[in-house]
Amino acid sequence: MDRYAVIGNPIAHSKSPLIHRLFAEQTGQALSYEALLAPLDDFAGTLRGFLVAGRGVNVTVPFKEQAWALADAHTAAAERAGAVNTIAVQGDGTLLGDNTDGRGLARDLRFNSGVQLRGSRILLLGAGGASRGVIQPLLAARPDQLCIVNRTVEKAEQLAMMFNDLGPVSAAGLHWVEESVDLIINATSASLGGEVPAISPKLIRRGHTVCYDMMYASEPTPFNRWAAAHGAARCIDGLGMLVEQAAEAFELWRGVRPDTAPVLAALRQS
Ligand code: NDP
Repeated sequence: MDRYAVIGNPIAHSKSPLIHRLFAEQTGQALSYEALLAPLDDFAGTLRGFLVAGRGVNVTVPFKEQAWALADAHTAAAERAGAVNTIAVQGDGTLLGDNTDGRGLARDLRFNSGVQLRGSRILLLGAGGASRGVIQPLLAARPDQLCIVNRTVEKAEQLAMMFNDLGPVSAAGLHWVEESVDLIINATSASLGGEVPAISPKLIRRGHTVCYDMMYASEPTPFNRWAAAHGAARCIDGLGMLVEQAAEAFELWRGVRPDTAPVLAALRQS
């Protein structure tokens, strides 16, 4: 049976093993998928050890940039992002690195949530690994503007420069923007610590602005609670993105596209 895994630190609460088990059952693929905790100072050792027999891995916080450096080749999405969340072992034993986070977010926004990206004004909060991975697919959807806002403004400026050949992308500090936008995407890790990035509530136009937190939890996240309190039209969490990016990885490994809707419904219920 082909073996796959997700590697991260921490990893105990990962939903990826459940998602891939449901995909495998649905598509009749014989595979196993486990969660592996890598020591913070030895991701490479954990990856190499697993891939002696394994066919592929997902990579999560905080190893996506290391995974990029360890891959022998990259898909166009991973090349741009500088971060890898999916590795597939090729026929000749080399490692192909992909980044499926961006495609996962774009699919979740469009197909699961019906959010219109074309012609919209988008504010992307955060300039870390997750943010890097989603800029290209967001710009590919032809928004009117994409403003990257980050606590450390230099990192946002760097990202805007890296991607400005692909569309209208700009950078700002947390307090700088006060004009309302159509969509705010929280790609910071602030929710993990129960915090909300210090942005102006004026960014939300009551009853219009959609807010999306890449984090997910059984309760509404701190960012989504803040957004609802300031009148956001809708507040969406990152569970759909998680399932969609997993489906992209599954297709890369197995050549079969799983149906994400029943898996997302099962996760929401559990
Ligand atoms: P990184 O550690 O690479 O980046 C963290 C970002 O958050 C930085 O921009 C940092 O700003 C910012 N930040 C952290 N704390 C605060 C705060 N208190 N106020 C304002 N900004 C803050 O993390 P990732 O980019 O890898 O992940 C970000 C989030 O996205 C995580 O919650 C992760 O779980 C989620 N995610 C969800 C996915 C899904 O499928 N649903 C997929 C990928 C990620 P600064 O640069 O100033 O330090």
